[in-house]
Amino acid sequence: MNYSQAFIPTLREVPADAVIASHRLMFRAGLLRKLANGLFAYLPLGLRSFRKIENIIREEMTAISALELKPSVVVPAELWKESGRWDSIGESMLRVKNRLDNDFVVSPTAEEVFTAIVRDELSSYRQLPLALYQINTKFRDEVRPRYGVMRGREFTMKDAYSWHADEKSLDDTYQAFGRAYRKIFKRCGLSVIPVKADSGAMGGSGSEEFMVESEVGDNTLLLCKACDYAANVEKAACKNDFTAHTSIEGAKAAASSTPAYEKIDTPNVKTIDELCGFLKTEPAKFIKTLIYRALNVELDLSSAPGCKKLERKKPSPGAPEVYAEAFFAVAIRGDLDVNEIKLASILKASEVELASDTDVTRLTNAPVGFAGPVGLNSLPLVIDHTVTAMNDAVTGALEKDTHFKHVAYARDFKAWMIEDVRTVKAGDKCSLCGGELYTKMGNELGHIFKLGYKYTSSMNVSYLDENGKSQMPTMGCYGIGVDRTLASVIEEHHDEAGIIWPVSIAPYHVIIVPIKYDGAVKEAADKLVSDLKAQGIEVLLDDRNERPGVKFNDADLTGIPYRVVIGDKGLSASPAQIEVKKRSEKDNCMVDLDKATAELIGKIEEDLMEYF
Ligand code: ATP
Ligand code: MG
Repeated sequence: MNYSQAFIPTLREVPADAVIASHRLMFRAGLLRKLANGLFAYLPLGLRSFRKIENIIREEMTAISALELKPSVVVPAELWKESGRWDSIGESMLRVKNRLDNDFVVSPTAEEVFTAIVRDELSSYRQLPLALYQINTKFRDEVRPRYGVMRGREFTMKDAYSWHADEKSLDDTYQAFGRAYRKIFKRCGLSVIPVKADSGAMGGSGSEEFMVESEVGDNTLLLCKACDYAANVEKAACKNDFTAHTSIEGAKAAASSTPAYEKIDTPNVKTIDELCGFLKTEPAKFIKTLIYRALNVELDLSSAPGCKKLERKKPSPGAPEVYAEAFFAVAIRGDLDVNEIKLASILKASEVELASDTDVTRLTNAPVGFAGPVGLNSLPLVIDHTVTAMNDAVTGALEKDTHFKHVAYARDFKAWMIEDVRTVKAGDKCSLCGGELYTKMGNELGHIFKLGYKYTSSMNVSYLDENGKSQMPTMGCYGIGVDRTLASVIEEHHDEAGIIWPVSIAPYHVIIVPIKYDGAVKEAADKLVSDLKAQGIEVLLDDRNERPGVKFNDADLTGIPYRVVIGDKGLSASPAQIEVKKRSEKDNCMVDLDKATAELIGKIEEDLMEYF
């Protein structure tokens, strides 16, 4: 391709909202333009790299026998009503009506669509396991699209789904996807950190995210200094830093020397810090009790305190029964924070949020700040494991300006559920080896997930087993964001001057820069282009009538891995020479013109091998 005909509008200026390198460089190097907030157009150079990532993904999907489909992006709402997500997914899902007033969804993900396709074709166990995927447009009306294509509203995802007769088969495929993902990211030149992740309300049994380290990452990762434990904070657990009791009796016994609990006046004391100052104690001696509102709860709450009258409904035909709204009290040691993702997962809720002040007052008979577990009969009480070790604690007394002291778990209150709802922090101890945990910020590029029966059950998928008995398959799902992968490659591979593409996904392998595209230089450049092209090398020839400095800057900015400079001086040497420079290295070298093709091919092949 000749540069003069290529559409590569490089820029000196960058948009004001481009705060990270990849966002700036995708605009500056002429890869991308913005149409609206979260909506973009890839230009030819950007699209070439984009397609290469797609192809790497395709090759690795083929290698694990996943098959590509291409369903429409706009899909009937009925499928989403069947699964229940028409009601449970909020405003991030774009819903549209056609001229007949029928409802449609612009796919934000495609579990429903793939499950519906498989439901119609699956009859026998012999068809399992089955793994299908697409590389297709997704739309999510993100609240805050940012960092260019890192978090867009429309983006491309490779999403795969698999169906299995048993857990072992699901696990085999899940592991195969995990290995394929590691390979895909490696081939793109990315260093990824696989982390344990939340498996959500459907209680899936496994979930792993592939993260890249990023200062502007949305995820906090907890990593162990001593072993390879790595988890998203949403999921991270830590070693107990308290003495756990194995039974209620054990907990009661531990409280035997604690005086009976008593009410104390704590006027104008609102925060835990103020309370600690007032009582000359420390946050870890306090039981913090928070009231949460949970939406679409799939648990059976019929025997939970305060929940008897809650109405269970099926939001749509086929969808599981849920409580549209339920309230819970959650207690945790005062120096810790409640992890709302863990909580939502435990409650099998689509979402949890702190209850409003009005709801807190209504449910606890006290203003915000005075909730406590003792005498709280109006709500199911979920306690973190840390609370089970507290046998002489301070708590809110369900009354304005009062607290209780000498409160002991088991003796003075009981829990409806005891769970791990704690947010793990840097400095906590690793649950595997006891080593110290530290944090990094990360961006999620991919996610593999054991879904279980959520969709096959709500959408009635079945097959006949060896004995002719009807069975329901279990499912996995596996996603990679193509755009976010591309942007992350640029984040990891750039310098002041521009992008430094890994050869595997560079828009072109070689850029040839004739000092002046004329005479013998033109002749040598044209010949080199055709020799390289004949060998499958992708070449951009900078035939523009620009100063060499301008061409060099653009070559650096667009990040083509090899730059070849051809000038009269080199050509007149004996033998004729050209200059070859690798974008990732500082120094260039002179190469004999007649050996240049072989030399460049050798280097490019070596580079490609490095990532395999
Ligand atoms: P996030 O937590 O970043 O919103 P997610 O967990 O909702 O992502 P998944 O549903 O697991 O994302 O989607 C799979 C992949 O799709 C993600 O790992 C990411 O690479 C990509 N992705 C998701 N949302 C976006 C977006 N708004 N823009 C670009 N890529 C996205
Ligand atoms: Mg995810």
